[in-house]
Amino acid sequence: MKNHAQNLSFWMQSLPANMLEFPQPILQSEYDVAIVGAGFSGLWLAYYLKQAQPEWKIAIFEAKHIGYGASGRNGGWLSTNIPIVIGNLLKNPRWAKQDVVHLQRQIIDTIAEVANVCEREQIDCDLHQGGLMFIATSDAQASRLQDYHAEELAHGFLPHEIQWLGADAAKQHINIDIMQAATHYQYGARIHPAKLVLGLARKVIALGVDIFENTPVQNLSTHTVYLSHQAVKGQHIIACTEGYTDQLLQDGKVIPVNSSIIMTQVLPASFWERVGWQNNELLGDMAHVYMYAQKTADYRILFGGRGAPYQYGSRDAGDGELDHVTTAQLLQRLRELFPRQDFQVDTAWKGSLGVTRDWNASVTFDDKTGLGFIYGFGGNGVAPTHLAARTMTDRILGKHTALTTLPWNDYVCPTWEGEPWRWLGIQSMYQLLGLADQVENRLQLKKSVFFANTAYQICGLE
Ligand SMILES: Cc1cc2nc3c(=O)[nH]c(=O)nc-3n(C[C@H](O)[C@H](O)[C@H](O)COP(=O)(O)OP(=O)(O)OC[C@H]3O[C@@H](n4cnc5c(N)ncnc54)[C@H](O)[C@@H]3O)c2cc1C
Repeated sequence: MKNHAQNLSFWMQSLPANMLEFPQPILQSEYDVAIVGAGFSGLWLAYYLKQAQPEWKIAIFEAKHIGYGASGRNGGWLSTNIPIVIGNLLKNPRWAKQDVVHLQRQIIDTIAEVANVCEREQIDCDLHQGGLMFIATSDAQASRLQDYHAEELAHGFLPHEIQWLGADAAKQHINIDIMQAATHYQYGARIHPAKLVLGLARKVIALGVDIFENTPVQNLSTHTVYLSHQAVKGQHIIACTEGYTDQLLQDGKVIPVNSSIIMTQVLPASFWERVGWQNNELLGDMAHVYMYAQKTADYRILFGGRGAPYQYGSRDAGDGELDHVTTAQLLQRLRELFPRQDFQVDTAWKGSLGVTRDWNASVTFDDKTGLGFIYGFGGNGVAPTHLAARTMTDRILGKHTALTTLPWNDYVCPTWEGEPWRWLGIQSMYQLLGLADQVENRLQLKKSVFFANTAYQICGLE
């Protein structure tokens, strides 16, 4: 069966066409809630609003198809990573360390919450709670891993939730020759993102939500959504457009930054016998230009990270076509970890993250105008979009809950510089980070090379 998804990810392309077919509803002139974007944020928001207010009329307007954006093409890490840079948040006197801890604990609980909803709603998305491993493959990476471990314990994790593993213990989990140390997180789940986003959409439609595909929103104003030929009224209007937000709002708050992925072909039993990886842990490293990986339910490796990160003028990743150079770089790093295997790439693609100037996410809602925004998850949105949607649900319903005190509520991000400074800043950051990895490896440094911090500072990651 031919697949008609525009999104070129393995996830979307490998599903049968009938999983991508949804009824086109009849447009009404007025809704209680109009949501822009059918990714995780928009769909979870519709799901939780319908649970709370079953009689509300809710519409989602999607420019392309359900899961076209990052939600249908990500690394499938349902992880405890928080979408904020702690140092940046704490520069604002409104927030303190306890707010970071609060956010971290809520994200940890979200892993089980997503698993519970999937079970309750019978959404089969290959979810497997095998935890997460961050590995170090050089002395400098091991030193960063130690610092990161200490930071995680200071900001919400309990000692038994993250285990420090020496090389031998780490290899019992995943046999990577060059691994020097690892941390093993109790929480974290692998998912098939397209199955989750499409399964969730089906559930939301069954609850009575109207999803309009191929329906781009041209503009928003108080209580009005402008489609190409028509204006629709909405008591509440919420943009869940992540890396595409600036095309709609044009306020320079969120820009699209690419992340790239390769998917191997199915790997033979002999590989898995050698490598182990029996708990299907999510796998990441401590390189400056880091990688992220998962073992899929059908015994492939998804391997993501490096790649042309930013396109001049904040162009988004389009349908996801990936250049050969980036594909080859990802394959090379995968081969460094597992040198005895001759990997073949099945599919390669890229997608747009939504990145704010200080890499902090925001859930903003104005109860006077009914306008709201959810954005800025960077590379850590699979679990946080769920929590953000529940936060926004409480805000729309006027409730004061533990979620409405999270530090992303009404968080005002700084504005990005215009071009060419934006392009120059991001390009130079990635060049410096790549160089930092090379220097650390060649010189076998014990600690991070001195100029790595400059790179993080240029783009607001420090
Ligand atoms: C390659 C890649 C790998 C990633 N890996 C991970 C990971 O492993 N773990 C993790 O936690 N996070 C990961 N992320 C981030 C995560 O996928 C996102 O944070 C999350 O999916 C964002 O969901 P969203 O619904 O907010 O945005 P999106 O999924 O991007 O959805 C936004 C939707 O809005 C639509 N839209 C935009 N403008 C308009 C308009 N004007 N009118 C109508 N519709 C519009 C778009 O077409 C899109 O479908 C990754 C992201 C990428 C790109």
